[in-house]
Amino acid sequence: MDSRIERLIKGEPSEREEILAEAEDDFLREVIEIIMGCKKGYYSVSQQTELKSLDQQHGGVVKRLLSKNIPFHRKEKLLRETGSSFIHKLLKPKQHRRRKDCPVPGCNSLGLLQLHNHLYQVHEYDKSKRNHWLSVARLRKAGINQDAEPCHFIPQ
Ligand SMILES: [Zn+2]
Repeated sequence: MDSRIERLIKGEPSEREEILAEAEDDFLREVIEIIMGCKKGYYSVSQQTELKSLDQQHGGVVKRLLSKNIPFHRKEKLLRETGSSFIHKLLKPKQHRRRKDCPVPGCNSLGLLQLHNHLYQVHEYDKSKRNHWLSVARLRKAGINQDAEPCHFIPQ
C-alpha cells in the first residue's frame, strides 16, 4: 500500500493537505476505493457519530464520497478541496484479527485466533452451535468495544 495512506491517517493536517493537493489521480482513486470498500461494522458507533457530524459540517461531503452514484472526478475534486480536514477519519487503519477466548463453560482455551476452528475441532459442534458460541464470544468482546454494532451510516 502507498505510504502516503499511512501519512494521511497519522500525519498533521498540513501534511494531509499537501499530500491531497499534490496527489495524482491514481492515488486519489486508491484512497476513494479504500473508503468505499468499507464493510458494515467497519466503523465503530462512536466513529459513525463522528462521521455524521463531519458530513454535516462539510455539506454532505462524506456521504457524497461514499456514494456509488457520484462520478470519480467529482469525488477527486471533493477530496482535493476539503479532504484534508476529515480523510484521516475515513481511512481507519485495518484492525488485526482479535484473539478470542473460548466462551464454552468449562473450556479454558484462551486467546484463540481461530475460535471457529476450535469450536469445530475441539468441541465438534455443528454449525448452529458454532454460530451460537461465536456470537456469545462477539458479545463479550462488545462489552469492551462496540465494533459489533452494524453500521447504519455507510450506504451499501
Ligand atoms: Zn473451547
